Formats: sequence, C-alpha cells, structure tokens
Amino acid sequence: MWLMGADAESGGIDLLDEFAYVARALAQHGWCVDNAGNLSRLMPDGSIIVTGAGTTMAEVAVDPGRSLVHLSAKGEKLAGYYEPSSEILAHLLTYEAVRESRPHITALVHTHSPALLVWASLEPRPKLPEDKLPKGGIAVNPYFPPGTRELADACAEAAAEGASLIVWEKHGVIALARTLSAGLEMIEAAEELAEAAVYADEA
Ligand SMILES: [Zn+2]
Repeated sequence: MWLMGADAESGGIDLLDEFAYVARALAQHGWCVDNAGNLSRLMPDGSIIVTGAGTTMAEVAVDPGRSLVHLSAKGEKLAGYYEPSSEILAHLLTYEAVRESRPHITALVHTHSPALLVWASLEPRPKLPEDKLPKGGIAVNPYFPPGTRELADACAEAAAEGASLIVWEKHGVIALARTLSAGLEMIEAAEELAEAAVYADEA
C-alpha cells in the first residue's frame, strides 16, 4: 500500500487514522457539504499527501486510503486513485511560504465553516479576543475564485506574514498547523469566537 512508506517516515503517526478522524469531524460539523474542503500533510521528504478532487469528507472518513493522493514536492502525482484536490496550488504555495520560517507547519485544513465567513463579511469586523486567537492571528483574504492562482498566491502571502488561520472571503478558511487534528481544533476554537462576536454585533 503506497501510504506505508509515508507512515514509516511520519514518526509513527497513523496518517490514515488522522485523515479519517479529522474528515469525520468536519463532515459531522456540516462544514464540508458535497465535496467542499480539503486536507493535506507535508511529509519529511517534502512530498505531500492530499485529499482527492471530488471526494467528500465522509468518503475520506470511511476509506482514507482510497481518497488520498500522494504528490511529489513539486506537485506531481506519485500515487492515488483520484486527481489531487482542486485547491492543491494553495496547499503547495502555503507550505512553500512557511518552509523556512515555520518548518513545524506540516498540516493544512481547509473547510467551509460559516461563522468565520460571516464575521469576515461584517464592516467593521468585530474585534476577537486576541489572547484566544491562534499564534500569528487570523488573516482575511479578499475573494478570488476557487482553485485559482490568485487565491493560492494571496493565501501564501498571508502565511508568509505569519498568519495561522486565513479566511478566504465568501469561501472558507484554512488552518496551518503541526497536525490535522491541531488544525481542526484551531478552526473549532475560532468558529466559537467568531460566532460569539457575530451574535454580539447583532445585539
Ligand atoms: Zn473550499
């Protein structure tokens, strides 16, 4: 099985379990309707494992081995049933942007969580409690169509400036973390803060 080599290099973490666990949580949150959202891990050899284009989070949860694609550091497909996620360029450029400054960033979680999107659309944006924000804070990118170079470049730029959580306006959010689970937790915590801020704004 092609993932076994990657498993051996990841320090004993069972990557399939990690993908399945986070995909299940995202599906249960209802943040990844249809095939929205994507996950990736950067391997020690620079290669990348990413969810396949068109796969749903429920599918990743049930059958991660079939739902994942293994890519070289340059993004060439090494193994996998599907083509890589349509947001693969954003993943590749974001890893590249933090490779020197934050080498511990080896997981990206992209999802369509609603509260952060509402929060980002408000003018002025309600303040979020800074002590509870992820290190590097939350950046907000203007809207670019999904899967485009412009979206990927804007995301990589915000990552290079130190953001750990980046909202793609009118689209979704991406978390930069050590593990997929840590990325999931970061988004869950930020969603709570955003929800509280949005309700307070309406009051
Ligand atoms: Zn998306």
